Amino acid sequence: MTGEDQLTLDGGCTCGGVRYRMTSRPLFVHCCHCRWCQRESGSSFALNAMIEAERVVLLGGEPQVVDTPSLSGKGQKIARCPSCRVAVWSNYAGAGDAIRFVRVGTLDDPDRLPPDVHIFTSSKQPWVVLPPATPAVAEYYDREQLWPAESLARRRALIG
Ligand SMILES: [Zn+2]
Ligand SMILES: [Zn+2]
Repeated sequence: MTGEDQLTLDGGCTCGGVRYRMTSRPLFVHCCHCRWCQRESGSSFALNAMIEAERVVLLGGEPQVVDTPSLSGKGQKIARCPSCRVAVWSNYAGAGDAIRFVRVGTLDDPDRLPPDVHIFTSSKQPWVVLPPATPAVAEYYDREQLWPAESLARRRALIG
C-alpha cells in the first residue's frame, strides 16, 4: 500500500448535490456482512473506507447528519445528501467524529478500494463467495494484527 499516499479519490451522491474528496488513501477498508449493514444498504454487505475526517474535503453541498441505531447499541451518525438522501459516510461511537467511514460505492471509481478485511462473515449471505487472499473474520478482529503500521500510526496520531 506504499506509494499510494498521494492518492486522491472523489465521490458524491446520486443527484450531484454533495461532492467530496478523500485526500489520501484510507486507513483500512471494511467489508461488513452484518445484518445491520445488509438492511441499511438493502443489499448483502457494506463497503466502508475508514479515514481521518480531516482528510475528507467537501467540494460541494453539505451533508445532513441523521442519528441512526447501530449494532453496538451506541448509535451511528449517517451523513446524507439533503436532497437525494444517499448516504456518503458514517461516524460510529467507537472512533467518534475523528474517523469517517466513507461509503466506497459513492466514489466515482469505487474499484480503487477493495476490502482489506471481511467482517461479521457469520451472517454473510451464503451466495457471497469471499476471495481466499483477503482476511475474513466471523465477527470483529484485532486492529494491531491486520492494519499496516502506517495506518496504526495515523490512528494513534489522531486518537492517542
Ligand atoms: Zn444528492
Ligand atoms: Zn455491519
